[in-house]
Amino acid sequence: HAKEQGRNRWSFYSHSLSKAATERLDLEHDLRAALTAQQFELYYQPKVAASDGRITGVEALIRWNRPDHGLIPPDRFIPLAEQLGLIVEMGDWVIEQACRQMAAWASEGMLVSIAVNLSPAQLSHPSLIDRVATLIKAYSIRPGMLHMEVTESMMLNDPEEAIKHLQALRDLGVTLSIDDFGTGYSSMAYLKRLPVNKIKLDRSFIQQIASDPREADLCAGIIALAHKLGLGVVAEGVETQEQQQILTGMECDVFQGYLFSKPMQVAAATEYLSAPRGAAIS
Ligand code: C2E
Ligand code: MG
Ligand code: MG
Ligand code: MG
Repeated sequence: HAKEQGRNRWSFYSHSLSKAATERLDLEHDLRAALTAQQFELYYQPKVAASDGRITGVEALIRWNRPDHGLIPPDRFIPLAEQLGLIVEMGDWVIEQACRQMAAWASEGMLVSIAVNLSPAQLSHPSLIDRVATLIKAYSIRPGMLHMEVTESMMLNDPEEAIKHLQALRDLGVTLSIDDFGTGYSSMAYLKRLPVNKIKLDRSFIQQIASDPREADLCAGIIALAHKLGLGVVAEGVETQEQQQILTGMECDVFQGYLFSKPMQVAAATEYLSAPRGAAIS
């Protein structure tokens, strides 16, 4: 009797284990097929100049239209794509798609920069520089209009190597930003050595500047330091007018956040970009 119970228990655990494992295998399988099946889509979120409310560019943010699962946000598949070694190919699609879109907008008279996010494995991939050079040429992109966002985690393995790759991108004329600035490990120590143009202040700072004076002081200090180093500052995740006002007082250069717009599909983004900028923005 006890033996039978034991066996049942075993089959219960074995069943639930295999369900989780099956889901994971399905996810892997679907993710591997997603690129060929053209299930990825870029959404675009505008960035707005603090000085006059004009749009300085957009950030391209990937989404996955997974059949029977709906729209999957990047936090739920980028880490897996990195683990599975799919990120380089996926990231390459993102860069080309962004270049293609920039060219399409330019042909309609809209000169908009597009920022793409780079995973560490992309930055250190030996063919990145040639590939970016080729795409810039093929789509007649002004190099400075292509922005690339990297996080401080790229510095963890081999900082000298990372700096070398950043410099090679700078030499192509690409605009570089440190994303999620302030959440990483090495912020201040490396900042003056990194060949980048901007920092993007992480949303976690912005969330607290209206309620926590010490967080606000920290933010103001980082902005002043960045400016001393000749770097522009973008605030991520600006959601309220109060945050916008405080950041304007701190001389933050550019805002990005739901206060202005959520990330949009290309049609809505095109409409947004071509609308006359009136009271809604400034
Ligand atoms: P990120 O690069 O820091 O992008 C900003 C994220 O904050 C986006 O989330 C955006 O939708 C969200 N956001 C913007 N404004 C607000 C706001 O006012 N409030 C709130 N609550 N959120 C806001 P998303 O699109 O889910 O992307 C998450 C992360 O996934 C990105 O963070 C980036 O690290 C990564 N990611 C997205 N696309 C790509 C890609 O093509 N390649 C790689 N390697 N990573 C990507
Ligand atoms: Mg980003
Ligand atoms: Mg960010
Ligand atoms: Mg982030």
